Amino acid sequence: VNAADKVTSLRAKLRGIVGDSGLIDDERAAPMLAEPRGLFHGRALAIVQPASVDEVSAVMRACWEADVPMVPQGGNTGLVGGAIASEAGNAVVISTARLNRIRALDAANDTMIAEAGCILAHLQEAASAADRLFPLSLGAEGSCQIGGNLSANAGGILTLRYGNARDLVLGLEAVLPDGRVWNGLNGLRKNNTGYDLKHLFIGAEGTLGIVTAAVLKLFPKPVATATALVGLESVESALALLGRARAASDDRLSAYELMPRRGLEFAVAHAGAVDPLPRPHGWYVLLELQTANAEFAPAPVLENLLEAALAERLVEDAAIAASEAQRAAFWRIREGLVEAQKAEGGSIKHDIAVPVSSVPAFIAEASAAVAARLPGVRPVPFGHMADGNIHFNLSQPVGMDRAAFLALWDEMNETVHAVALRHGGSISAEHGIGRLKVAGLEAMKSATELDLMRAVKRAIDPKGLMNPGKVLRA
Ligand SMILES: Cc1cc2nc3c(=O)[nH]c(=O)nc-3n(C[C@H](O)[C@H](O)[C@H](O)COP(=O)(O)OP(=O)(O)OC[C@H]3O[C@@H](n4cnc5c(N)ncnc54)[C@H](O)[C@@H]3O)c2cc1C
Repeated sequence: VNAADKVTSLRAKLRGIVGDSGLIDDERAAPMLAEPRGLFHGRALAIVQPASVDEVSAVMRACWEADVPMVPQGGNTGLVGGAIASEAGNAVVISTARLNRIRALDAANDTMIAEAGCILAHLQEAASAADRLFPLSLGAEGSCQIGGNLSANAGGILTLRYGNARDLVLGLEAVLPDGRVWNGLNGLRKNNTGYDLKHLFIGAEGTLGIVTAAVLKLFPKPVATATALVGLESVESALALLGRARAASDDRLSAYELMPRRGLEFAVAHAGAVDPLPRPHGWYVLLELQTANAEFAPAPVLENLLEAALAERLVEDAAIAASEAQRAAFWRIREGLVEAQKAEGGSIKHDIAVPVSSVPAFIAEASAAVAARLPGVRPVPFGHMADGNIHFNLSQPVGMDRAAFLALWDEMNETVHAVALRHGGSISAEHGIGRLKVAGLEAMKSATELDLMRAVKRAIDPKGLMNPGKVLRA
């Protein structure tokens, strides 16, 4: 049988499994083969959308028997090329979009069982309708899928309070590369029975198998929120305020986002944001307290905290949102900042994490290091400070050629990553490794750790068919 016949026969087999409507051959295919920022464009033998776990299993068994690589895809919002097939065109893309049922919601157990293709925002809505909170929340929530979130171990705005995707899962169902289904869908909060296999699949970015469903944790639904935008002189002050805010709120702090003056100016100039404070400050923190207890009024707690901090000159100024519209206006600064960077020319991105206590030193040292390499470069370090996760983005010097600036991408990455690693940090805090950061992962792991990772990969995927070239070198 020649190679072309093998492809024809596999496609026929796949069509038999998923039906005509499950084989994507039309204009929907192109965006499924391209990374959203255009970093990677792939090709595929076929793109399939199985509609049940049995179909996922049959598709994977067929690929396994034909020795054909498989590339799982959720909402394709990941920004590291993880869900994109390679240019070789020898893989089958398996999209989970049609696996989108909520199988059960058990309010008394505070859990729901969701299939991998459920859109994150839909899960938030389902939890809310049951008077619960599903706290995973991030910019891509309108289109990313829970299977992708778990495979990338996504974090987001509320990680500080509720943890990463990994912390929100009690049980998992996954299909192995040879088509076997592992049903680990228990809703147990205590279960010490050997290796906790779900944690291998969470964060594996599709390199071990396909997650098809998960038991997710729910929480009491917040009934009150207090939000402030605080102006500070330094990142050190922001760190000191963080400790105070956690204690004062009895650890009900749900967001603590750091932004530099430059980021706020970008958001005001290009994203319709408004600066609520009368004079400029070097740094800003967007801070939010949330409670599910109607008797715990978060606004006075925030007022007392900020009054004391002002009196001690720990903070320079602060505005507390007096309405939902004002709260939205504060968030507009944080969310607009990312979009606004585009209007300032080329932008080189980093997604690092360091211990929270090292955030001030990391920002100072990384800023000095990039300025030494390129005078005039404009760092915009912002993000989830309470998780030690800073998006250390660099805007190009004013007037510099955009392409010449972007040509420095790898060099700037190396410079910034070296500072993060010196502080015991990570080169990928929440976006994962995908294809983009494979070399970076190798640089930050010991030989022993890499050996362990490769051994796990070989044990679960002995033919190396699951998402080859992602996370670990193929
Ligand atoms: C605007 C924006 C804001 C963001 N903000 C944050 C943030 O604040 N915090 C954060 O942590 N992240 C953030 N992200 C990244 C986000 O975590 C990922 O984009 C998202 O989790 C990926 O979900 P997805 O369904 O799009 O997965 P995809 O992009 O389709 O896939 C991601 C990876 O998982 C694999 N995969 C997908 N589904 C499965 C499955 N069912 N089984 C096995 N493997 C699978 C893919 O092969 C790929 O390697 C943001 C992204 C965007 C675009």
